[in-house]
Amino acid sequence: MYDVVVCGLGIMGSAALHHLARRGCRVLGLERFAEGHDRGSSHGESRIIRLAYFEHPSYVPLVRRSYELWRELEHEAGRRLLHVTGIAEIGPPDGTLVAGTLAAARLHDIPHDVLTASALMQRYPAFWLPPHFVGVVQPDGGFLKAEASVQALLALARKHGAEIRFGECVRAIEATNDKARIVTDRATIDAGAAIVAAGPWMSSLLPKAALPLRVTRQVMGWFAPKAPASFAPGHFPVFLIESAHGIHYGFPLSREGVKVAKHHHADQTVDPESYDRSVSAHDEALIRAAVAEHLPAANGPLVEAKTCLYTVAPDSDFIVDRLPDAASILVASACSGHGFKFAPVIGEILADLATARSAKHDISRFGIPRFR
Ligand SMILES: Cc1cc2nc3c(=O)[nH]c(=O)nc-3n(C[C@H](O)[C@H](O)[C@H](O)COP(=O)(O)OP(=O)(O)OC[C@H]3O[C@@H](n4cnc5c(N)ncnc54)[C@H](O)[C@@H]3O)c2cc1C
Repeated sequence: MYDVVVCGLGIMGSAALHHLARRGCRVLGLERFAEGHDRGSSHGESRIIRLAYFEHPSYVPLVRRSYELWRELEHEAGRRLLHVTGIAEIGPPDGTLVAGTLAAARLHDIPHDVLTASALMQRYPAFWLPPHFVGVVQPDGGFLKAEASVQALLALARKHGAEIRFGECVRAIEATNDKARIVTDRATIDAGAAIVAAGPWMSSLLPKAALPLRVTRQVMGWFAPKAPASFAPGHFPVFLIESAHGIHYGFPLSREGVKVAKHHHADQTVDPESYDRSVSAHDEALIRAAVAEHLPAANGPLVEAKTCLYTVAPDSDFIVDRLPDAASILVASACSGHGFKFAPVIGEILADLATARSAKHDISRFGIPRFR
């Protein structure tokens, strides 16, 4: 009998496991694939973290708590996971990105500069921007090391006593008299509560919950820059740019190249069991269009490309809640393409819900009843 069983060990499940183990709970983490796999949503080298949240200002207190928890995690793990590079969010002044970022920055008094296109190109010569674009530059923005973060959380969870099993697939989760029963391909396990953090497999694991989630195929590309020095960390920020090509984002130069991707890519709904994991010329073209126009010095050969999955809610928010008819089953689908940075605070919330029955943070935005 465990206090809590965590089903799925991507970044969200790993964060929940870490919080629970640190609190002394008897916890088990179950993952269907091998450690470090690349089949879900939490691989691909890096993820952006930013404070002035263009999606909605109500995320800001959660990101603030996440920054604190990422730093605590780094301290505990003895390794660097969060790299502050500054972030430039660029586009037309009335676009989703710039207007949303500014609204959140002003409401929450977040340090930022607003630069004209020419001032931004002067500060970061790698960009080419049309004259009517502006950039909101936040010094606190940066990126997280993706695989290293999952690894660090799991290593610490183990150190605090969590049991972890890879290669064990959860087949069903049922509520039984205020407790949870987890049926895997190897065993039937009873627990005080189950946390389901199955990423793209959430709907297939909890079919009765009828969560309105859509899984979409994403592609990340790494380009060999013609002028590497202008993309070096310290000279080039993490960025998001909204243009005629869509919203693209990218990172300073890493060993593999300059990583750039298109947010939502082709927005193609797929089955996580069987989607195409190869990268086509069309995939490359969707990303390269923005690279060629706005980062011409990065427009060299594509040296690496990977697919990944978004699990998207209709309103692009997260789901973090109990199942309405089964209070011992907690659901965490914190993706919609922007969840990684929140993992430590989502882990904290899930640990609170599983042990104290209520969360210290405001999660009213993430409730299941909003879909009814
Ligand atoms: C290309 C890309 C770029 C992104 N960029 C950013 C960014 O810049 N900033 C940001 O904050 N967020 C970003 N995100 C979103 C972020 O990565 C996700 O929100 C996050 O990784 C979701 O983690 P998860 O743990 O919910 O899902 P996953 O990582 O998919 O983990 C779910 C786990 O559950 C396991 N599982 C599933 N079913 C079972 C089962 N039946 N039994 C046992 N185990 C099971 C899976 O194998 C998997 O390991 C990006 C996502 C992608 C794909």
